[in-house]
Amino acid sequence: MNGGQFVATNSVTWRLKSVMMLIAVFFILSALGIYFSSLSFLDGLQDINSANQVLNLTNQSLEGLDSSTQNLNKLQGPKNLKDVEFSFHENQRILKMAIEKSISLSKNNPDVENLLKKGMTAVNVYEKSVDQLFTSLPANNEDMRSEILITLQFATDAKELLRKAQINLRNDTDRNFSSIYANRFRPLLVAISLSAVFFLFVITFGFNISNKIAASLRNLRGATDKVSEGNLSYQAPIIENDEFGLLTNTFNEMVLSLREGRATLDSTIERIQALQQITASFSEALTSDEVIEVTAKEGFHAVGASAGGFALITSEGDELETRKFIGYEVETMSHWQSFPISLSTPFSDSVRNRKPIFMNTLDQISETYPHMHFEIKSHGHQAMASVPLMIGEVCLGGLLFCFNHARNFSQSEKDFIIAIARQCAQALHRAKLYDDARTAIQARDEFLSIASHELKTPLTPLKLQLQILAKQYKKGQTDIPPEKFLKIMENSDNQLNRLSRLIEDLLDVSRITAGKLRLNLESIDLKKIIEEVMAQYEHQLKDALLRIEIDAESKVICQVDPMRIEQVIINLLTNALKYAPGKPIKISLKKAGEIAKICIKDQGPGIAPENQERIFKRFERVKATDNVGGLGLGLYISHQIIEAHHGKIYVESTPGNGSNFVIELPVVS
Ligand code: ADP
Repeated sequence: MNGGQFVATNSVTWRLKSVMMLIAVFFILSALGIYFSSLSFLDGLQDINSANQVLNLTNQSLEGLDSSTQNLNKLQGPKNLKDVEFSFHENQRILKMAIEKSISLSKNNPDVENLLKKGMTAVNVYEKSVDQLFTSLPANNEDMRSEILITLQFATDAKELLRKAQINLRNDTDRNFSSIYANRFRPLLVAISLSAVFFLFVITFGFNISNKIAASLRNLRGATDKVSEGNLSYQAPIIENDEFGLLTNTFNEMVLSLREGRATLDSTIERIQALQQITASFSEALTSDEVIEVTAKEGFHAVGASAGGFALITSEGDELETRKFIGYEVETMSHWQSFPISLSTPFSDSVRNRKPIFMNTLDQISETYPHMHFEIKSHGHQAMASVPLMIGEVCLGGLLFCFNHARNFSQSEKDFIIAIARQCAQALHRAKLYDDARTAIQARDEFLSIASHELKTPLTPLKLQLQILAKQYKKGQTDIPPEKFLKIMENSDNQLNRLSRLIEDLLDVSRITAGKLRLNLESIDLKKIIEEVMAQYEHQLKDALLRIEIDAESKVICQVDPMRIEQVIINLLTNALKYAPGKPIKISLKKAGEIAKICIKDQGPGIAPENQERIFKRFERVKATDNVGGLGLGLYISHQIIEAHHGKIYVESTPGNGSNFVIELPVVS
């Protein structure tokens, strides 16, 4: 994989989120700034508004003072005193109201409030002096004028104070205005500069992020293009340790696993093709040697093994016989030519346990088979696979594959090796069936030629005898001596007997094959049967050096068909006469526990161990005795008859030392 576990040390989404959060914070702060600056702005406006109202009111007050003084100047003595006094007081009421309102609106400005209060005091002093004037009006005009002038002086004082208040107010308003202006403008300037810096930062940051995203995407797109073109060895570089890095890393891992998948697929296809090729070759292999050759040439090559062996279980089932060494000098392997199946080796273990064994390393092999360490090492083997050759539940042998490098057998490799072994076992099985069929055909052909010969053999002398007789009668020689006539008759009878025995044997075989061999069972002493045979064949046996030993003290009663047991004994006796002519024959009867044993022993050529089982099969004959006629059916029929009696028939013999045919039958207790 691409450098193992990928660790993302930074995050592009986190950076994008940060930018978004910065923008959000910026907007919240801006909104708060606008709100608070608007508050102070409104306060300032309110102050200006109040100042304007106060200015208006003071203007009204000044105008009131002016009209009051003008009104006072209109005083002409007692004649218009009342009117002037009324207008004066009306004027004073409005004037004072305006000044009071101005005072109440100037609470925030103590200087103006102070001046207005002083102005109010001055107005009150003016009002008081005017009231005094109205109550003690001077008698002459001159005095009244000077009194009015003195009184007007107070009004002027009041005006003076109101004007001062106005000046003060104007100054204040100006100050207020410029402070509002300053308060509005400075935050704006700061906000603009901050925004400029902020946007510069955000733009740079955002540009940087988008550049990196674009580069990562370009990188990924390039990688997908390459992969889609079939380049599965391409690994995209990781530009940043962020989410795109993680994505690239995952993509690379995906490509790697795709590559591994394709490699597995390729090797699977290769194996399937190899298996098809081997199967085809196996189907053409007709003999087990050909099967072994195909396995050695194609099977080992397909598996990639450097050496190995092909072994089959012997007929005894206790040994493995190596039929082929692959990749070894045969001389160096002589001790493995055949070896007990019970031996502790990977090969024999897998065959004995009917299970494949796969070993990846020499260490693994040595751990399980320490006694084989040096031998395996000396051959340079590092891994092994041993598979049994199974046909259903039957094991035929095994295949051993050795490898010169350590390996990790994958499941598909194991399956492949097992499949080759299965194909090989089936091919071996087919070869055996083919071999059996061929042998059966050969035996049948042989049987047909022997049968025709055997059937013809008694007919020729019979025909000859009859022709001689006919010829003599034709010539009118009817005086044939009785001994000669009897001889001819005896010979003809012998030939007819032989012919009818042959036909009887053939009929028995067809009965056995059809499962129609009927037994008429009865409890009978076997001694009686033997004695009857002796009496019946007295004539034929008279020349044989026959010895009969009946060991059984009491009767040997068995539940048998006497005719059939008689047939078996006659068959064995005739065989002894046939294959050991002129030599002594011994018949014995013994009782061993629950078993009765009839033995017919001759001193003929004997039978080799490998043929001792075979001769009881249909049409089977030992080749060495070909000079003696026969169909190879007598022992087969005998075997079938004895088996039908739940008994056993076998031969004990060593070539050159005669044969001892044994019949075992269960006795009736
Ligand atoms: P056949 O008609 O050939 O005798 P059998 O089934 O009786 O058929 O015998 C089968 C074969 O067994 C014979 O062909 C012969 O080779 C061998 N055989 C049978 N009996 C004897 C014996 N007593 N000694 C040697 N070989 C024998």
